[in-house]
Amino acid sequence: MTNSEDNKDFTFFEDDFIAELDSWYSADIKCCNECYEDFIQNWPLAIDRLPDSYSIDTNAFYHGSRLRNLYTEQEYNENLHNVKCPRCGAGIYGVFWVFEFDFDNFDEIEFDFHLLKQDIKETPFIVLENKLASQTFELIEKISKNINLIDLDLSLYRGRILDKTDINKSDLLPPPPNFTNEGRYNHIGIPVLYAADKEITCFNELRKPIQNLHLAEFKIQKQLKLLDLTSVEEFDSIDENNLLKAIVLSSVASAKAEDGSKYKPEYYFTRFISDCCKYLKFDGIIYPSVQIGEGNNYVFFETTLLNEYNIQIIKKYN
Ligand SMILES: [Zn+2]
Repeated sequence: MTNSEDNKDFTFFEDDFIAELDSWYSADIKCCNECYEDFIQNWPLAIDRLPDSYSIDTNAFYHGSRLRNLYTEQEYNENLHNVKCPRCGAGIYGVFWVFEFDFDNFDEIEFDFHLLKQDIKETPFIVLENKLASQTFELIEKISKNINLIDLDLSLYRGRILDKTDINKSDLLPPPPNFTNEGRYNHIGIPVLYAADKEITCFNELRKPIQNLHLAEFKIQKQLKLLDLTSVEEFDSIDENNLLKAIVLSSVASAKAEDGSKYKPEYYFTRFISDCCKYLKFDGIIYPSVQIGEGNNYVFFETTLLNEYNIQIIKKYN
């Protein structure tokens, strides 16, 4: 007996869909149209930074896959709602996103991050009592013992917006304590040296100023102990659970702070990481830009690593 078109069985529609997805991408649905905004708030760098992340249009997927041999386009569209987003449970429509995290149970980690953010907002000085914070400290301590010093054999850029014509090298140096605001990796009144490895990264990090951005190009001729949050794969043997990778991709380390607001809870956990690193005698941290998915940022705890002698050139960017 054959199925007539009228009583075709769609019981396995979702299974067929997932099997086809798996054969194309060997990855799972991570979020859908319905929960994309919430996902990005929790994992701001995940879609930009993971190498095999795809946004898939449901129409294109039908026409490019074997599903078109199994179902008519109308049947496909009528049954799409049976394919559920594992994140929010909504039926798939329009666009969905697939990729793999290196860590399991990302929804559980998301919950732990939520608790961490609460603790850190309410009692920042006793955040080590939080499980995830103490795990982070222990992890950085392990890395600290296994890490090699590196030569940063590249040009770095430090940007400042300077509304004057006669620019001196001293204008590009980090500010003194009484002019130091809090930043992603420094407490108020504690100057650090922020830099980037691309000119455009400075421009983006300084919120795309329309004019008067000046850049000091410099090199650091010294071996440094740096925590590199941009290539956390190197820590695979130390960081069995890929906690550091989860942190970097998540909102605890990479949420954008609101411009112009004095309240920046997005910086609390990164300053905790910074404190861990200073305590463990790191010279600084390399971290991804959250403004766009391009270029890396550097923070150095010793501000004299930039001085009037190692500035090679000062450029007016715009
Ligand atoms: Zn969803």
